[in-house]
Amino acid sequence: MENVVIIGSGCAGWTAALYTARANLQPLVLTGTQPGGLLTTTSIVENFPGFPDGVNGCELMTRMQKQAERFGARASFGTLEEADLSRRPFVLTVDGEKIETETVIIATGASHKHLGVPGEDLLETKGVTYCATCDGALPVFRNQPLVVVGGGDSACEEALYLTRFGSIIYLVHRRDKLRASKIMADRALANPKIKPLWDSVVTEVLNPKQDKVTAVKLKNVKSGAETILDCAGVFVAIGHGPNTAVFKGQIDLDANGYVVPRKGTMTSVPGVFVAGDCADHVYRQAVTAAGSGCAAAIDAERFLAAENG
Ligand SMILES: Cc1cc2nc3c(=O)[nH]c(=O)nc-3n(C[C@H](O)[C@H](O)[C@H](O)COP(=O)(O)OP(=O)(O)OC[C@H]3O[C@@H](n4cnc5c(N)ncnc54)[C@H](O)[C@@H]3O)c2cc1C
Repeated sequence: MENVVIIGSGCAGWTAALYTARANLQPLVLTGTQPGGLLTTTSIVENFPGFPDGVNGCELMTRMQKQAERFGARASFGTLEEADLSRRPFVLTVDGEKIETETVIIATGASHKHLGVPGEDLLETKGVTYCATCDGALPVFRNQPLVVVGGGDSACEEALYLTRFGSIIYLVHRRDKLRASKIMADRALANPKIKPLWDSVVTEVLNPKQDKVTAVKLKNVKSGAETILDCAGVFVAIGHGPNTAVFKGQIDLDANGYVVPRKGTMTSVPGVFVAGDCADHVYRQAVTAAGSGCAAAIDAERFLAAENG
């Protein structure tokens, strides 16, 4: 029987682990398929307090894990497949094994959205990618025209990163201005290798017959004109949706699937707490995820303490 199982190993998960470990609860952290969470897909993190020169995303997450493990947190490289939160102890099915636990902290984050156009799925890992930091340096993209789809901070960051590798980076956005923060938008638009294509959407990724990305079909949303743009890679950066499908019907989720917190980090089920991007569609930052991980840990600890007198 576990005291607390933390589902997710991003900033929220490892911070919750640090606090619950220091409260002697020996938390079990399920890493899921992305140990370290989303920050492991970025190179330099410049806005996490305490790192005046910035810090590599993977290094930051490794440090968070080490810090929590030092106080007794345990990592399990498992993925939650099913959760029975209808009664306590809660029963979690992790890679086919059942785990019983007194409390749960959900810190499953959010995932990349897909374009949902023909060719996208067939060419994933064959030129279609959702992470420039992970894939941008691959030989197939070097000195080639590349497409980034999106208009937010992630799209700007991806495009800027890709200027190191591609010959030209087309930033395809469905509106006529970026919705990224001003500093990111200015940086991207000032880069001579980044060419914005306004009012445009990708309607197809070509060419599955060649088993690799050779071009995208674009549509101008204002004129309706269709064009073919040659490129070797499509980097999709159009946002995220919460990783909460496994909790549907068990706890209250909003219309977009985000966990609805009540009174701090509590959920609709007593003993189940939430932290990080899976409950936050507003701030979505490493430091806010870490902060809510701390809060969820304190809430879980107080919940257990109140029960045990
Ligand atoms: C390219 C990029 C750059 C970014 N740069 C910055 C930056 O510079 N500064 C900043 O503050 N923020 C940045 N962010 C945002 C930041 O990464 C997120 O806000 C933060 O990672 C959210 O942390 P989290 O713990 O909520 O979720 P995540 O980091 O997404 O972690 C979720 C965890 O849950 C696990 N998981 C999911 N489902 C399951 C399951 N069923 N079972 C078990 N585990 C599961 C995953 O494996 C993962 O470990 C960036 C994001 C991206 C994509």
